Amino acid sequence: VFDVLVVGGGPAGASAAVYAARKGLNTGVVAERFGGQVADTMSIENFISVKATEGPKLVAQLEEHVKQYDVDVMAGQRAAKVYRDQLLHVELQSGATLKAKSIILATGARWRNMNVPGEAEYKGRGVAYCPHCDGPLFKGKPVAVIGGGNSGIEAAIDLANIVEHVTVLEFADSLRADEVLIKKANSLSNVTIIKNAQTTEVLGDGKRVTGLSYTDRVTQQSHELTLAGVFVQIGLVPNTEFLKDSQVSLTQFGEIEIDNKGATSMPGVYGAGDATTEPFKQIIIAMGSGATASLGAFDYLIRHAQQ
Ligand code: FAD
Repeated sequence: VFDVLVVGGGPAGASAAVYAARKGLNTGVVAERFGGQVADTMSIENFISVKATEGPKLVAQLEEHVKQYDVDVMAGQRAAKVYRDQLLHVELQSGATLKAKSIILATGARWRNMNVPGEAEYKGRGVAYCPHCDGPLFKGKPVAVIGGGNSGIEAAIDLANIVEHVTVLEFADSLRADEVLIKKANSLSNVTIIKNAQTTEVLGDGKRVTGLSYTDRVTQQSHELTLAGVFVQIGLVPNTEFLKDSQVSLTQFGEIEIDNKGATSMPGVYGAGDATTEPFKQIIIAMGSGATASLGAFDYLIRHAQQ
């Protein structure tokens, strides 16, 4: 029986595991893929105190830090169900069940892809998903933002400060963002918004993005834009499908509802990182919330758990 069982091995899960192990708790980590989204990241320049690093390098350091303690890391395992039967249980897709006195859910999220030719090929080479992370890489260059919801229009306003020009492409005939954001975007001289635009391909020269093509859904005409970058902002989906039938409350977007100690609605179950209602999705924030959840779980254990 684990004192703390962490589900997820991204920055939130790794941080939670280190904090739990340092409290002398019997700690386990179940992760489908250790490292999470960080493993897919090229350059990271906003992880404070480390001026610049790369995703795979940070993943190796996370793993090294976790393994410095007596933590049972079970990689390549997917959680399928969480329930309580006196103790808490995590059922794995493999059929095995793990028992724990407390659980930290840190299963992260995934960006919704456009699924057009060129997107996967140029991921990290012009195709980007995080304006806070990658905006400065496109300083003085033209970029497009795909998606006219709140995150797309926020991204356009943010990027307009840094890049030469931002073209927003929205599939529908109207923007779904808040009026105040639309007003702000419309007031910026280097932001153009195109509606009824269906992105059909990300173009590149084999090394980097050079543009994109889209079809005007009204005229059926095809157009090309010359660009250095394409920011895809069509949704961030939390990896919480396996919690749908559990006692853990999710928002309408599937995010795990947590309080300021990381506690979910299910006693003894805590949440951290991109899978939760934590509003900003960043490595440094995920690590902080992993620490919070772990300390929250420790607080719970010293009050509730039998020895
Ligand atoms: P994740 O990193 O998503 O990790 C989730 C973990 O849970 C993984 O181990 C996954 O395998 C596991 N998991 C999921 N479902 C299950 C399940 N059912 N059972 C078991 N395990 C499961 N942030 C920055 O601060 N700076 C950057 O420069 C930056 N660049 C980025 C670039 C890209 C391309 C992307 C995609 C993201 C970037 N981010 C960046 C965002 C950052 O990576 C995330 O905010 C951070 O990784 C979230 O950490 P997390 O631990 O909550 O989730």
